[in-house]
Amino acid sequence: MNVQRFQGKEIESGFKRSVVFSFWDGFVHLLFPSSCIVCQGELLRTEQICCSVCFSELMFTQFEKAREPTPLDQLFWGRVDVSAAYALLYYEKTNTVKPLLRALKYENRSDVGVFFGKLIGNKLIELKSFSSVEVFIPVPIHQKKRYDRGYNQSEQLVKGISTVWRLPVDKKVVSKRMHTQSQTKLGRFKRWDNVEDQFYVNTAIRQYKHIALVDDVITTGATLEAIIQQIRLISPEIQISVISLALAK
Ligand SMILES: [Zn+2]
Repeated sequence: MNVQRFQGKEIESGFKRSVVFSFWDGFVHLLFPSSCIVCQGELLRTEQICCSVCFSELMFTQFEKAREPTPLDQLFWGRVDVSAAYALLYYEKTNTVKPLLRALKYENRSDVGVFFGKLIGNKLIELKSFSSVEVFIPVPIHQKKRYDRGYNQSEQLVKGISTVWRLPVDKKVVSKRMHTQSQTKLGRFKRWDNVEDQFYVNTAIRQYKHIALVDDVITTGATLEAIIQQIRLISPEIQISVISLALAK
Protein backbone atom coordinates (compact mmCIF):
# COMPACT_ATOMS: atom_id res chain seq x y z
CA MET A 1 0.00 0.00 0.00
CA ASN A 2 1.30 3.46 -0.78
CA VAL A 3 0.66 6.40 1.48
CA GLN A 4 0.19 9.48 -0.66
CA ARG A 5 0.70 12.88 0.80
CA PHE A 6 -0.64 16.22 -0.33
CA GLN A 7 1.94 18.46 -1.93
CA GLY A 8 2.52 21.96 -3.38
CA LYS A 9 -0.57 23.67 -4.77
CA GLU A 10 -2.91 21.34 -3.00
CA ILE A 11 -1.59 22.55 0.34
CA GLU A 12 -1.93 26.19 -0.73
CA SER A 13 -5.50 25.92 -1.97
CA GLY A 14 -6.27 23.62 0.95
CA PHE A 15 -5.06 26.35 3.29
CA LYS A 16 -7.35 29.00 1.75
CA ARG A 17 -10.24 26.61 1.86
CA SER A 18 -9.48 25.66 5.45
CA VAL A 19 -9.61 29.34 6.54
CA VAL A 20 -13.05 29.74 4.97
CA PHE A 21 -14.20 26.47 6.43
CA SER A 22 -12.91 27.30 9.87
CA PHE A 23 -14.99 30.54 9.92
CA TRP A 24 -17.99 28.60 8.70
CA ASP A 25 -17.27 25.82 11.21
CA GLY A 26 -17.17 28.28 14.08
CA PHE A 27 -20.44 29.83 12.95
CA VAL A 28 -22.16 26.46 12.66
CA HIS A 29 -20.72 25.38 16.00
CA LEU A 30 -22.18 28.47 17.69
CA LEU A 31 -25.61 27.76 16.27
CA PHE A 32 -25.57 23.98 16.63
CA PRO A 33 -23.01 22.81 19.18
CA SER A 34 -22.53 19.08 18.66
CA SER A 35 -22.47 16.61 21.50
CA CYS A 36 -20.26 13.71 22.48
CA ILE A 37 -21.65 10.38 21.26
CA VAL A 38 -20.69 8.70 24.53
CA CYS A 39 -21.48 11.16 27.37
CA GLN A 40 -23.69 13.63 25.42
CA GLY A 41 -21.59 16.52 26.76
CA GLU A 42 -20.99 19.47 24.45
CA LEU A 43 -17.98 19.04 22.16
CA LEU A 44 -15.26 21.65 21.90
CA ARG A 45 -14.54 22.96 18.41
CA THR A 46 -11.37 20.91 18.32
CA GLU A 47 -13.19 17.69 19.20
CA GLN A 48 -15.00 15.33 16.88
CA ILE A 49 -17.42 12.45 17.55
CA CYS A 50 -16.55 12.08 21.24
CA CYS A 51 -15.00 14.38 23.83
CA SER A 52 -11.36 13.97 24.80
CA VAL A 53 -12.30 12.43 28.18
CA CYS A 54 -14.43 9.70 26.55
CA PHE A 55 -11.83 9.23 23.82
CA SER A 56 -9.15 8.63 26.45
CA GLU A 57 -11.37 5.96 28.01
CA LEU A 58 -11.69 3.96 24.79
CA MET A 59 -10.03 0.57 25.08
CA PHE A 60 -7.45 0.56 22.27
CA THR A 61 -6.06 -2.88 21.37
CA GLN A 62 -2.55 -1.56 20.58
CA PHE A 63 -2.25 -4.45 18.11
CA GLU A 64 -0.02 -2.26 15.95
CA LYS A 65 2.64 -2.61 18.66
CA ALA A 66 2.18 -6.35 19.31
CA ARG A 67 5.20 -8.61 18.88
CA GLU A 68 3.30 -11.81 19.68
CA PRO A 69 0.14 -13.12 17.94
CA THR A 70 -2.85 -11.09 19.13
CA PRO A 71 -6.20 -12.48 20.33
CA LEU A 72 -7.52 -11.56 16.87
CA ASP A 73 -4.82 -13.62 15.12
CA GLN A 74 -5.62 -16.49 17.46
CA LEU A 75 -9.36 -16.25 16.78
CA PHE A 76 -8.77 -17.56 13.24
CA TRP A 77 -6.24 -20.25 14.12
CA GLY A 78 -7.37 -23.68 12.94
CA ARG A 79 -10.28 -22.13 11.06
CA VAL A 80 -9.08 -20.09 8.08
CA ASP A 81 -5.73 -18.76 6.94
CA VAL A 82 -5.48 -15.00 7.53
CA SER A 83 -2.36 -13.09 6.43
CA ALA A 84 -2.72 -10.12 8.80
CA ALA A 85 -5.44 -9.06 11.22
CA TYR A 86 -6.07 -5.74 12.93
CA ALA A 87 -8.75 -4.29 15.19
CA LEU A 88 -8.56 -0.79 16.66
CA LEU A 89 -10.66 -1.19 19.81
CA TYR A 90 -11.82 -3.80 22.26
CA TYR A 91 -15.56 -3.99 22.57
CA GLU A 92 -17.29 -4.94 25.81
CA LYS A 93 -20.98 -4.53 26.55
CA THR A 94 -20.14 -2.12 29.34
CA ASN A 95 -17.39 -0.06 27.75
CA THR A 96 -17.51 3.20 25.81
CA VAL A 97 -17.13 1.45 22.45
CA LYS A 98 -20.77 0.34 22.67
CA PRO A 99 -22.30 3.79 22.09
CA LEU A 100 -19.89 4.30 19.19
CA LEU A 101 -21.01 1.12 17.46
CA ARG A 102 -24.66 1.89 18.22
CA ALA A 103 -24.33 5.36 16.68
CA LEU A 104 -22.58 3.94 13.61
CA LYS A 105 -25.12 1.18 13.04
CA TYR A 106 -28.42 2.52 14.29
CA GLU A 107 -28.26 6.30 14.69
CA ASN A 108 -27.36 7.41 11.20
CA ARG A 109 -23.84 8.48 12.19
CA SER A 110 -21.80 7.39 9.18
CA ASP A 111 -19.22 10.03 10.22
CA VAL A 112 -18.25 7.78 13.16
CA GLY A 113 -17.07 5.18 10.62
CA VAL A 114 -15.06 7.70 8.60
CA PHE A 115 -13.46 9.21 11.73
CA PHE A 116 -12.34 5.86 13.17
CA GLY A 117 -11.41 4.60 9.69
CA LYS A 118 -8.84 7.40 9.48
CA LEU A 119 -7.44 6.37 12.85
CA ILE A 120 -7.19 2.76 11.67
CA GLY A 121 -5.44 3.92 8.49
CA ASN A 122 -2.81 5.73 10.54
CA LYS A 123 -2.24 2.77 12.85
CA LEU A 124 -1.82 0.40 9.89
CA ILE A 125 1.21 2.39 8.73
CA GLU A 126 3.11 0.70 11.57
CA LEU A 127 2.23 -2.79 10.34
CA LYS A 128 4.39 -4.16 7.51
CA SER A 129 2.14 -7.21 7.18
CA PHE A 130 -0.46 -5.01 5.45
CA SER A 131 1.98 -3.41 3.01
CA SER A 132 1.14 -5.67 0.05
CA VAL A 133 -2.65 -5.22 0.33
CA GLU A 134 -4.04 -4.16 -3.10
CA VAL A 135 -7.71 -3.52 -2.38
CA PHE A 136 -10.19 -2.97 0.45
CA ILE A 137 -13.35 -5.04 0.44
CA PRO A 138 -16.01 -3.91 2.92
CA VAL A 139 -18.04 -6.76 4.41
CA PRO A 140 -21.38 -6.43 2.61
CA ILE A 141 -24.74 -6.06 4.31
CA HIS A 142 -28.05 -6.98 2.76
CA GLN A 143 -29.63 -4.47 0.38
CA LYS A 144 -32.63 -4.01 2.65
CA LYS A 145 -30.46 -3.20 5.68
CA ARG A 146 -28.43 -0.84 3.56
CA TYR A 147 -31.59 0.88 2.40
CA ASP A 148 -32.97 1.18 5.97
CA ARG A 149 -29.65 2.41 7.40
CA GLY A 150 -28.76 4.55 4.40
CA TYR A 151 -25.21 3.18 4.22
CA ASN A 152 -23.02 0.17 4.91
CA GLN A 153 -21.03 0.92 8.08
CA SER A 154 -17.99 -1.03 6.84
CA GLU A 155 -17.89 1.11 3.69
CA GLN A 156 -17.73 4.20 5.92
CA LEU A 157 -14.72 2.72 7.72
CA VAL A 158 -13.08 2.06 4.34
CA LYS A 159 -13.78 5.67 3.36
CA GLY A 160 -11.75 6.79 6.37
CA ILE A 161 -8.95 4.23 5.87
CA SER A 162 -8.71 5.28 2.20
CA THR A 163 -7.89 8.86 3.17
CA VAL A 164 -4.57 7.46 4.41
CA TRP A 165 -4.13 4.45 2.10
CA ARG A 166 -5.11 5.46 -1.43
CA LEU A 167 -6.11 2.00 -2.57
CA PRO A 168 -9.06 0.86 -4.67
CA VAL A 169 -12.23 -0.24 -2.92
CA ASP A 170 -14.20 -3.14 -4.40
CA LYS A 171 -17.80 -3.19 -3.19
CA LYS A 172 -19.05 -5.64 -5.80
CA VAL A 173 -16.81 -8.67 -5.67
CA VAL A 174 -18.34 -9.99 -2.42
CA SER A 175 -22.09 -9.63 -1.93
CA LYS A 176 -24.72 -10.80 0.49
CA ARG A 177 -27.15 -13.43 -0.77
CA MET A 178 -30.22 -13.14 1.45
CA HIS A 179 -31.72 -11.38 4.41
CA THR A 180 -31.24 -13.71 7.38
CA GLN A 181 -32.86 -13.42 10.77
CA SER A 182 -31.03 -11.29 13.29
CA GLN A 183 -27.75 -13.01 14.22
CA THR A 184 -27.76 -11.72 17.77
CA LYS A 185 -30.86 -13.74 18.70
CA LEU A 186 -29.16 -17.01 17.84
CA GLY A 187 -26.62 -19.00 19.85
CA ARG A 188 -23.05 -19.51 18.63
CA PHE A 189 -23.64 -22.84 16.88
CA LYS A 190 -26.94 -21.89 15.28
CA ARG A 191 -25.28 -18.69 14.15
CA TRP A 192 -22.62 -20.73 12.36
CA ASP A 193 -25.28 -22.75 10.44
CA ASN A 194 -26.94 -19.53 9.50
CA VAL A 195 -23.88 -17.67 8.29
CA GLU A 196 -22.74 -20.38 5.86
CA ASP A 197 -23.61 -19.67 2.24
CA GLN A 198 -24.74 -16.14 3.03
CA PHE A 199 -22.17 -14.57 0.77
CA TYR A 200 -21.62 -14.67 -2.94
CA VAL A 201 -18.11 -14.16 -4.34
CA ASN A 202 -17.60 -13.10 -7.95
CA THR A 203 -14.80 -14.71 -9.99
CA ALA A 204 -13.38 -11.17 -10.46
CA ILE A 205 -11.73 -11.81 -7.06
CA ARG A 206 -9.03 -13.72 -9.03
CA GLN A 207 -7.47 -10.44 -10.19
CA TYR A 208 -6.18 -9.80 -6.65
CA LYS A 209 -3.22 -11.35 -4.83
CA HIS A 210 -3.80 -9.73 -1.43
CA ILE A 211 -7.12 -8.29 -0.23
CA ALA A 212 -8.19 -6.73 3.08
CA LEU A 213 -11.71 -7.44 4.31
CA VAL A 214 -13.06 -4.59 6.46
CA ASP A 215 -15.73 -5.13 9.13
CA ASP A 216 -17.18 -3.03 11.96
CA VAL A 217 -17.06 -5.54 14.80
CA ILE A 218 -15.74 -9.08 15.15
CA THR A 219 -17.38 -11.29 17.76
CA THR A 220 -17.09 -15.02 16.98
CA GLY A 221 -15.37 -14.41 13.64
CA ALA A 222 -18.00 -16.62 11.94
CA THR A 223 -18.99 -14.04 9.33
CA LEU A 224 -15.42 -13.42 8.19
CA GLU A 225 -14.68 -17.14 8.30
CA ALA A 226 -17.65 -17.80 5.99
CA ILE A 227 -16.57 -15.09 3.54
CA ILE A 228 -12.95 -16.27 3.53
CA GLN A 229 -14.03 -19.86 2.84
CA GLN A 230 -16.20 -18.70 -0.06
CA ILE A 231 -13.34 -16.62 -1.48
CA ARG A 232 -10.87 -19.52 -1.25
CA LEU A 233 -13.25 -21.77 -3.20
CA ILE A 234 -12.80 -19.38 -6.11
CA SER A 235 -9.24 -18.19 -5.52
CA PRO A 236 -7.37 -20.76 -3.36
CA GLU A 237 -3.99 -18.96 -3.36
CA ILE A 238 -5.20 -15.45 -2.50
CA GLN A 239 -3.82 -13.70 0.59
CA ILE A 240 -6.58 -12.39 2.84
CA SER A 241 -6.16 -9.87 5.66
CA VAL A 242 -8.77 -8.60 8.05
CA ILE A 243 -9.40 -5.11 9.48
CA SER A 244 -12.06 -4.27 12.05
CA LEU A 245 -13.08 -1.29 14.13
CA ALA A 246 -13.67 -3.45 17.19
CA LEU A 247 -13.01 -6.92 18.56
CA ALA A 248 -15.43 -8.28 21.16
CA LYS A 249 -13.66 -9.32 24.36
ZN1 LIG B 1 -17.79 12.44 26.29
